[in-house]
Formats: sequence, C-alpha cells, structure tokens
Amino acid sequence: MYRTHTCGALNLSHAGQEVQLAGWIQRIRKLGGMTFIDLRDRYGITQLVVNQDSPQDVNTVLEDLGREYVITAKGTVVERSSKNLKIPTGEIEILLKGVEILSRSQTPPFTIEEESDGGEELRSRYRYLDLRRPPLQKAIALRHKMAQETRSYLGQCGFLEIETPFLIKSTPEGARDFVVPSRMNQGQFYALPQSPQTFKQLLMISGYDKYFQIVRCFRDEDLRADRQPEFTQIDCEMSFVERDDVLAQFEGLILHLFKSVLGKDIPAPLPRIPWKTAMEKYGSDKPDIRFEMLLHDLTPLTRDTEFSVFRNAGYVGAICVKGAASYTRKQLDELTEWVRRPQIGAAGLVYVRCSKESDGVMTFKSSVDKFFDRKALESWARVTGAGDGDLILVMSGERMKTLEALGVLRLEMGNRLELRDKNHYAPLWVYDFPLLEWDEETQRFYAKHHPFTAPKPEDLDKFYSDDPKDLEQVNANAYDFVLNGTEVGGGSIRIHDSAMQERMFKVLGMSPDEVKAKFSFIINAFQYGAPPHGGIAFGFDRWCSLFGGSESIRDFIAFPKNNAGRDLMLDAPSEIDAQQKKELGLS
Ligand code: ASP
Repeated sequence: MYRTHTCGALNLSHAGQEVQLAGWIQRIRKLGGMTFIDLRDRYGITQLVVNQDSPQDVNTVLEDLGREYVITAKGTVVERSSKNLKIPTGEIEILLKGVEILSRSQTPPFTIEEESDGGEELRSRYRYLDLRRPPLQKAIALRHKMAQETRSYLGQCGFLEIETPFLIKSTPEGARDFVVPSRMNQGQFYALPQSPQTFKQLLMISGYDKYFQIVRCFRDEDLRADRQPEFTQIDCEMSFVERDDVLAQFEGLILHLFKSVLGKDIPAPLPRIPWKTAMEKYGSDKPDIRFEMLLHDLTPLTRDTEFSVFRNAGYVGAICVKGAASYTRKQLDELTEWVRRPQIGAAGLVYVRCSKESDGVMTFKSSVDKFFDRKALESWARVTGAGDGDLILVMSGERMKTLEALGVLRLEMGNRLELRDKNHYAPLWVYDFPLLEWDEETQRFYAKHHPFTAPKPEDLDKFYSDDPKDLEQVNANAYDFVLNGTEVGGGSIRIHDSAMQERMFKVLGMSPDEVKAKFSFIINAFQYGAPPHGGIAFGFDRWCSLFGGSESIRDFIAFPKNNAGRDLMLDAPSEIDAQQKKELGLS
C-alpha cells in the first residue's frame, strides 16, 4: 500500500484520521523549527508538516528530500492554523509520522507549478515533466471527458465506432500526404490518411448506416500556430439523410458536450447562416457572433465619387466601432499600418469620427473630408448605425478580399473592445458554401470542401455546364460548425452516384486515367448500391482547447509537435540508419 488517499481528497471532515499519501514534492519550506512540504499528484496538493516533536527518522529523511522526489508519507490529518481557502485541501495538513523515498529526482529544469518559469522549448523537451503541471493535467482530463461523452452519446444514438486503416493510398483532401515506404513492395508507398473520408463512405455502402470514430488524421502542411501534423477528429457519417438530418443529429452531440463537459445550456436550435451572408455580414466563413459590429456595404453610396480609390473599387464596406471616436490620430495611423500588413493586405483605411456637438448636431470628421461632404458622411453613418462617439472604419478594393480584410479588422476591434469573452460561447452552423474554388496560379478548380461533396440539387444544371462562370456559382451541400470564430467541424452530403462523382473529378481537371488509378475503388463501389449519405468531422483537439478556454491546441495533446513539426522530446523526425534504408529500397 502506497496510499490511502490522493493528494486532493482530504479536508476537515478527515481531521484526526491516520492517512498515507504518495506523490511528488512540489516545494519544501522551512520556517523556524517547522518544515512544510507540498505534496502533489494529479488530484491536488496536500501540505505535510514536520516539527520538532515528529519522529527522529522523519527528521532525518527530511534532510535528504528535494523537489520532485517521489515519496510516500504517513501521518495524522490536523486542522491548519493558517488556512488556504483557494484549494480543497487548504484547511488541513498532515502531521508526519513516517516518510519513505520511493524515487529521487534531479533538480527539474523548470518549476512544475500552476505557472512555470520554463520556456516553451525547454518544456517541450521535458514534456513528461510539463505534463505534471495542473493546467496540463486539467486539459488532458477535459479531453478524456470529451471523448467519453462523445462515445457515450453517439453510442446511445446507435452509432458504431469503427476503426479504419492508417496505411492507405493517398486521399485528395487538399493537403500533402505523409508517405510510408513499403519494405515488402519496394519502390511503393502507403500514405497516412488525411481523414477517413473514403472509408466512411465505403462503410455506408456496406450498410453501417451510423458510423463514428475518434481518429488520428495526418496532413503534411506548413504549420501555422494552431495546427499539428497529426491531429484528432470526431469523424462521423450517416446514411439515408439530408442536410437537416445531419445537422439535427450533431446539434444533439454539440449540446450534449456543452452540458456534460461545461455544464452549459446552449439555446437550441443553433443559428444557421448561409455562407454568403456570413461573408457579407462578418467578412468570414467562420464568424464570431459573440458581438455585432457587422459589415455594411457602402458601395452604392460611393460609386459616383471623385475619390478614385472608392470609385474604382469592386466593393466599399465599413464597420462601426461603438465608442471608438476617441481614437487618436496616432492610433488610427497605427491601425492603418496594421491593415496594410501582408497577412491582411488592405491598401488602406478610411475613418470617420462621429460626435454630437453641444448644440446636439452630429459632426463627422473623416480622413476623406476633401471628397465627401457632411451629407455623404451622414449617409454612411445611417447605413452603419453610427451615432455619437462612434468610429466608422472603411475599406475598399476587390470584393472578396475586402470583405475578408474587414472581417479581420472586425475581430481585431472586437478584441480591443474586449467583446470576445472566452467564457461566452456562441456556436452556429454555416451552410451553402461554394462547391469549387478557382485557382489562378494553376488555372483550375479545387473542391472547397473535398471532391466527394455533393452539389446542391438546385444547382445541378450549372454543375454539368462547361462554362466556368456557371461552375463558380454552384453551391455545395456542405456545412461547418463554428464556435467563437473558429471552424470546429465541417461536413457535407456526399455524391453517391458514380457518374456524378466522375463528373466532379473531371471538373477538378483529372484525366480519366488519373481517376482510374486513384479512385476506381470508390467509383466501383458506387455501382453496387450506394445509399444517399452525408457526414461531418469535428476537430477534436481544437474543440477541447475552446472548451478549456485556451488558445493553444497543444495543451490538449499529451505529446504534441512544435511549429516545425518536430517532437523535441524524441528529437523526431530523425535520420534512419543505412540498413533500414537498404531494406526499404531507399537511397
Ligand atoms: N473528411 C472531412 C474533413 O476532414 C470531413 C467530412 O466531410 O466529413 O474535413
């Protein structure tokens, strides 16, 4: 027996009991004749105390102890004189009667406490030590809870959890594949799945009408801050469904996770916004609807101006920032520089400060006073809903780009005005995305979601048209689940007809030979009775991080990689030796 209780279990109700704890020493403090030890395990911290009356052998072992030593300690639960009401065990301490060292520790490279003094890189190298810290233990436990609740909810709804292979053939989902050389088939490679997309569709053809899997996916992308080369999805698929069936089913899962993991009741049904509206009102396909500050179209009001920047722009739009008329010239200049950064790429920023004079008359001070008179500016204020003390920010340029740039500015102003409280959750669905995206560089269409997504039935004529203008307008029967400005899930109703799937591959510029080589398995499968089907996949790591109120998905992955795709603890990737290469037929 190493312990009778954990380090998070004891409180005043245990006073007088003889107990035994085991854990790691977080801290040792000597105060006069007393020594205090904070003993930690994943359940909490309990204070151990040794005084002059403690047995001699306890005092002897004490001399030997250090941070992160693993000990087991016996003693009596007593009421503390100076209580720490911030922790559940803070009203008691253990008066030690015996202590035994189970394992010694070198001095840890950083402090293992709520906050650590170690930098990101150092902590990554010693991930097993970082994982001892309470915030990470909380994050990992939250992830566990999310997975458990997902399994139990979907299980109850009749979903089967079915595993799909990791060593597969390349799936075209837009990212680069990780590949694995085959020893038994030299010169040939497996690919790791970017998602189980084709397998879950094949399972529908096999009759498993409700499938899910909490599954690892692999994408060899240049990593941005919040991406991992391997990440986890809650991957789901259903047969005999239309879009609203899928949304209703997974809205159930979403509400269940909010309730069971966070204890939050989210009003249902969730808002649903068509993609086009999301772009026009929020400048984003993953709108943060925790705050308003909507985009307003000023194009009709600025068409006939002398100001050539606006006259020649495809779109002129504005947001109204409430209460920000007090922004100084310097702040506005900085903001202009900020929107000019390549990440946003706006040409500039026009502003209008709105204020009411003492006589009650509204005045407008703008950076384009030369071109726009009071009447014009007043009409902008009317459209944007700007009143006394508000600031109108205007951008112009190519329509889509400008909507997106304004969307980014909206989020920035939302941050500055502290309108994006991470404890407030505003989930929604976005639907009716374009099916295709034209790429100027390669002069071809790409599937916006993936090539298995069905066009909306009402757009089929355009889908079979050979005019790129028609194709550009085809909407996909696709939907995203968005939470606080982050895309957490995405899915679609699928194509389940081999001719339509072949047409899709053709639209994507694939030759019949290429289709045959890469996709004959799914085209063939569609010829043996494919039910109508659709599904969704949720980014599990990201969802956990949003529920955990953290910016970083890494905290919710036990052993993550850094921004360069490296595991600093393992020092991977690494060279393999000559013998291994030879066996694989690699040079
Ligand atoms: N496989 C898709 C993805 O990973 C999700 C889906 O369409 O179900 O984004």
